[in-house]
Amino acid sequence: MSHNHTLYKKQVSAIRSVAEGVYVLSFQRSFTFTAGQVLAIDVVPDGEARLYSIASGEQDKDIEILFDERPEGRLTPILSRLRVGDNIYISEPFGSFRSDAGKAYWIAAGTGIAPFVSMIRSGKATHKTLVHGGRYDENFYFASLIEKNFSGKYTRCCSQQEDTAYYKGRLTGWLKEYDLATDNRYYLCGSAEMVVQVRDILISKDIPFQNIVSETYF
Ligand SMILES: Cc1cc2nc3c(=O)[nH]c(=O)nc-3n(C[C@H](O)[C@H](O)[C@H](O)COP(=O)(O)OP(=O)(O)OC[C@H]3O[C@@H](n4cnc5c(N)ncnc54)[C@H](O)[C@@H]3O)c2cc1C
Repeated sequence: MSHNHTLYKKQVSAIRSVAEGVYVLSFQRSFTFTAGQVLAIDVVPDGEARLYSIASGEQDKDIEILFDERPEGRLTPILSRLRVGDNIYISEPFGSFRSDAGKAYWIAAGTGIAPFVSMIRSGKATHKTLVHGGRYDENFYFASLIEKNFSGKYTRCCSQQEDTAYYKGRLTGWLKEYDLATDNRYYLCGSAEMVVQVRDILISKDIPFQNIVSETYF
């Protein structure tokens, strides 16, 4: 939840479903931002806006937001029913989660892939290893874009689909199983639970605490 952001009116330019209950919402870009930043978004100008990572590239004409509908949530069931031309209210971009140029692991759960998609679309994917966790094979959002534009290693960890085409299990299982480079930085994005679990695994594998950077979705 976020407060005290001045919100600006925009019109939805597209909305599409990318998996069951998961959507990409688009509107025209009218600001500059750094890949990894977020926006506060609402459907009223003066409510309790929620935060969303920008999934677009820094030079893209449209801004895309990737979100899960929470059936009991306040905002996302409304967002998922928006149509082209409907009004939304957005803040200026903000936030300090961003990639540096060095070797790094990017570790994302669910819609936590969004800031990394923005970094890939902004040409910031050199020397990176991407690990994405999702429940079903359809939850690896932007997979074809990632496959086309990402030169590093891209591992999908699928926790619930028996016949998955990918690593079968949670991303925490993958991280425990494989050797991790101690001289890389680690960028984490996902729920508070995911961030805490991954951080504990990294620390147990001798990754220095100062090399772990996280963006928590709460
Ligand atoms: C920095 C940051 C970036 C984020 N980026 C993204 C992103 O890119 N994509 C994305 O999908 N999300 C993102 N989030 C999460 C997002 O901001 C919202 O929290 C999320 O979309 C839910 O909003 P909502 O209004 O639909 O649900 P809320 O009304 O906030 O409810 C959230 C959950 O709590 C439960 N709940 C609500 N009220 C109660 C209650 N009284 N008792 C028990 N349970 C309750 C609901 O069932 C729901 O599952 C981000 C969060 C942060 C902090």
